[in-house]
Amino acid sequence: MNIKALQKIGYGVYVVSSRKGDKFNGQIANTVFQVTSQPPTIAVSINRNNLTWEYIKDSRVFSVSVLCEDTPLTFIGRFGFKSGRDTDKFQGLDYKIGETGAPVVLDNAVSYLEARVKQEVDVGTHTIFIGEVVDADTLAEKACLTYDYYHQIKGGLTPKAAATYAEVKPIVKAEEKQEAKSAMAKYRCTVCGYIYEPEKGDPDGGISPGTPFEKIPDSWVCPVCGAAKTDFEKE
Ligand code: FE
Repeated sequence: MNIKALQKIGYGVYVVSSRKGDKFNGQIANTVFQVTSQPPTIAVSINRNNLTWEYIKDSRVFSVSVLCEDTPLTFIGRFGFKSGRDTDKFQGLDYKIGETGAPVVLDNAVSYLEARVKQEVDVGTHTIFIGEVVDADTLAEKACLTYDYYHQIKGGLTPKAAATYAEVKPIVKAEEKQEAKSAMAKYRCTVCGYIYEPEKGDPDGGISPGTPFEKIPDSWVCPVCGAAKTDFEKE
């Protein structure tokens, strides 16, 4: 069996949010899909170790924000690589309280959906929550972010708790290897695995393409997980 076949399945990138009492949490998920149109029903697959899982179990409601293609990595890092147990992910964000009482993230969203859980399926590490859509709207006429674009173009990573996690090393062609040798050194974040590539820089973080790692200000942080510059190691 070639497990790589699974990586050819197309996905989007979403923030799935929920509440527990008056507390909010949200996380990045790529496994969101519509399962019926009458009534409009969606499903999400959430890792049972995640705080959002606990909140959905408790409140039986969740929201989904469909992210746009130009969503910065820092935003995905906030929801995908940090735990709501340690930080308030909603601080300083544009969001609203939906009809179900769940928070709905509006920043970087092209549309949102809100659902009440009708069924759930235990699939081992994850639970699939199936919910009837009770509210939805479009927010912007922009391209939505696909999982492929996130990986290939933005250089994004997949947290270990994701339903589709797989340890994948990017395929580097021989000529690219040769080129890389003579180019500026890449640095890897020891916390999340993000690789700083001088050629690409970090435009979202104010670092122009072509900036060597050594020239980045000390105040710069990992665009994915927020780790300090000192947490990076030379590749
Ligand atoms: Fe990082």
